[in-house]
Amino acid sequence: MTQRFTPEARGLGMTSQRARDRLIERLKAQGIADRRVLDVMRSLPRHLFVEEALASRAYEDTALPIGQAQTISQPYVVARMTSALIEHALPKKALEVGTGSGYQAAVLAALVENVYTVERIDELLRNARRRFRKLGIDNIRSKHADGKLGWAEHAPYDAIILTAADDALREELFDQLAPDGVLVAPVGKPGVQKLLRYRLVEKEAGAMWVGESLGDVSFVPLLGGLV
Ligand code: SAH
Repeated sequence: MTQRFTPEARGLGMTSQRARDRLIERLKAQGIADRRVLDVMRSLPRHLFVEEALASRAYEDTALPIGQAQTISQPYVVARMTSALIEHALPKKALEVGTGSGYQAAVLAALVENVYTVERIDELLRNARRRFRKLGIDNIRSKHADGKLGWAEHAPYDAIILTAADDALREELFDQLAPDGVLVAPVGKPGVQKLLRYRLVEKEAGAMWVGESLGDVSFVPLLGGLV
């Protein structure tokens, strides 16, 4: 199920399509193999998720500033996290903590029936919502809130993704996961974070959440309070 974005929202037309094609080739060369993820990222105009002054750099495989000292994640990291999230089963309902530019949420929205996303900085959230509208994306619900404790109202989720790093993962997030759910999050202090994926594993003592490392990453910190 690849979402078709409204044509007028495609912006730069052929030029940006060629730039995206090149980016997809680079992601493949780096080991991203999930066709569903590659197809979505091939059609989603990342240049609409950054400020106009940076649009020409939108298809470099790099994180870019989005204001308020925050960044839109590197495309490779978005591809890696999304692939890890949908590898074992396609979630129907996903929660993202850290909407930022909205790009990761938009990628998920093309794959998952219902996406919920929480952002603590109101200005970023308003910009992200504008982008969703412009692209005709209507299956994302968002909230201006501190997402450290998830979004209990709509739980349980088949998938939870954190796009900001904390020292440790909170119990409340696991409480909001469905039993066959998956959680992907960067964990650790700035500069030394691991990307972790948690799934429920049957042990002798009963089922328990077990994490595996998907490699080193560098994310902005998960912060408390609203802006
Ligand atoms: N997924 C985003 C990445 C944004 S960077 C994208 O695709 O662009 C991480 C975001 O997490 C920032 O916007 C930051 O403001 C937000 N954030 C940090 N702590 C948060 C918290 N406790 N609750 C909600 N959002 C948070």
